[in-house]
Amino acid sequence: MTLRLINFVALISLVVSLALGALWVRGFWVSDEVLWTRAGGSGSEADELVWQFVAGGGQVGLARIHHHVTFRSPDDAALIRSDLERHTGVRRSSVAPAVGPRGAESVWNRLGFYGAWTTSRTRGVAVFTDGRSRVNAAEKVTTLRWAVVPSWAAVALTFVPSAWWLQRAWRRRRERRRANLGLCTRCGYDLRATPGQCPECGTVSTRPGLGTMGST
Ligand SMILES: [Zn+2]
Repeated sequence: MTLRLINFVALISLVVSLALGALWVRGFWVSDEVLWTRAGGSGSEADELVWQFVAGGGQVGLARIHHHVTFRSPDDAALIRSDLERHTGVRRSSVAPAVGPRGAESVWNRLGFYGAWTTSRTRGVAVFTDGRSRVNAAEKVTTLRWAVVPSWAAVALTFVPSAWWLQRAWRRRRERRRANLGLCTRCGYDLRATPGQCPECGTVSTRPGLGTMGST
C-alpha cells in the first residue's frame, strides 16, 4: 500500500467513525433512515434492489433487499417495472426510536449483534400496482441480507484504521524529536557520548552525530 492510500483510508475511517458517533448521540432522540432503491429487469421479469441504512436507539443497521419477480406475461412485468421506476432513488426519513429486533437468543444477540442472509422463493404470488390492482406473478425470489450492530461497535470498528494511523504518527514524531535531541530513537537514552550506537538497547543510529551538532 502506498502512503497516500494509507492516509486516505485513515481519513475516511476517521470521518465515518465521527459520523457514526454523531448518529449515536442523535439516536437517543431520533432514528435516521436512508433508503436507496433501484429497479430493473426486462422481458417478463422485474427487479427491485433496496439498500437500507438505519441508525438510532444505540444501534446501526444495514440491509440489502432484492426482489426478483417473474411474471406470466411481459405486459404484466412492464406494468410493475414502471411502478418500481417511480420509487427509485434516495429517500431519507427520520423515524421515531429504536431500530432492529430486540430480544435475546444467542450471546451475540444479547450483545446487540443481529443479522440474516436468507433467500425465499414463492410461486404463484400476487403483486400489486400503485393503483392497487392485482397482477399475478409466476415466481418471486427475495434475497435478504441485513446486519444490526450496537453503535459502540460500529464507532470502534471504523475508528481502528485512524487509531493505528494516529499511533504511528505519534511514534514517528517521538523518534524525530529524540533524534534531534541526540537521544536514542528507540529508548530515549542520551547518545551524545556514543553517537554511533545506543549502549542501552543496541540500536544503531541512522543519523550519527546529529545530536552533537546541537539542535537545528
Ligand atoms: Zn536505545
